[in-house]
Amino acid sequence: MSVNTTKIPFDNIVRFGQSTMLEKNLFNVSWILSRFCNYNCSYCWPYAHSKKVDHRPLEVYKKTMDEIKTQARANGFNSFHFSFSGGEPTAYKRFLPLIGHYAKDEKARYQSIHMTTNCSPGKKWWATWIQATETLKRRSITASFHHEFADEDAFGDKLLMLQDAGVYVTINQVMVPHLFEELYERCSRFNQRGINVTLKPQSNESASEIVSGYTDDQIEMMKTGFPLTIENGELVQQLVLNDHKDNMYNLDQAERFNAFGFNKFKGWTCNAGYQSCIVREPGGEIKRAYSCHDEPLGTIDEGFKLFRTPNRCITSTCVSSADSKIPKSRELDKLEAIEKEEIIMEISRKQSKAFKKERTNV
Ligand code: SF4
Repeated sequence: MSVNTTKIPFDNIVRFGQSTMLEKNLFNVSWILSRFCNYNCSYCWPYAHSKKVDHRPLEVYKKTMDEIKTQARANGFNSFHFSFSGGEPTAYKRFLPLIGHYAKDEKARYQSIHMTTNCSPGKKWWATWIQATETLKRRSITASFHHEFADEDAFGDKLLMLQDAGVYVTINQVMVPHLFEELYERCSRFNQRGINVTLKPQSNESASEIVSGYTDDQIEMMKTGFPLTIENGELVQQLVLNDHKDNMYNLDQAERFNAFGFNKFKGWTCNAGYQSCIVREPGGEIKRAYSCHDEPLGTIDEGFKLFRTPNRCITSTCVSSADSKIPKSRELDKLEAIEKEEIIMEISRKQSKAFKKERTNV
């Protein structure tokens, strides 16, 4: 089964974003809690993990969370989505109390949670997590399978247990070109067990481009393979896109944007920093989003200020799917250019048809 993306005219898209951020007035936070990971995979980028436990005290995390919500509310947002990653977020010993603090906010209109995890804790830990997050409207997990440390069957069993409890689960697989077939086969096995799988192209070390070495078929598989579904088999459509004629399109997930090269938004108006922020360690930096070259909005230790309005993008490539799904729009002058181009093409098509007809008559 594959998703139909051929209809989307990416060159003519002028407005898009994650549907919940467009429709629910949701504020989005992506939070790298620390770099500590209990695994030590040989292929992990050195900047992405650390063997040293480097978490902050629970009170500092809680205070930062509360301050983000206060400033987001001042911008008019009272629905929240917090997404935790690392390192490995579940390796933080006080993670469950932190989630409990988030979940008990009664002032919020809507709250959801996401985690990117290696899924290493046992079923008992996950049962407690399920309980701690019960009051949230939506819970989702992106699980990464690491063959050097995890067991395929046990990993799948835990994900099915989470799915049965109503958690939306996706396995994220970075498709290293020389291992493509092996990884694809494992993903198919997980998918046959009823678990969603996302195939991601591997980025280069500076995360600005996808690496070379893919065949055309492999690129196609990453563009369209394993469409995300929910339990009743219905297609998930996380993104809404509008073209210059206001036609509307849907796409299941922002992870596919890089495979289409739809990641250059310099000059567009972007809600990152106004309707979203990221928090990352080391350093406790708070930024509008991971990919942005803007000055940070501040730090956990010294304080931060969210933007009070949407702002222009000044960055050449928006490479993280956590960033590209944040609502963006661009100005009409470019649309006029596209329309003009279409009119010119149409005129030249008509002229060449008339010319051919004339010659036939001669
Ligand atoms: S790089 Fe930053 S400002 Fe630019 S589109 Fe991506 S998230 Fe928005």
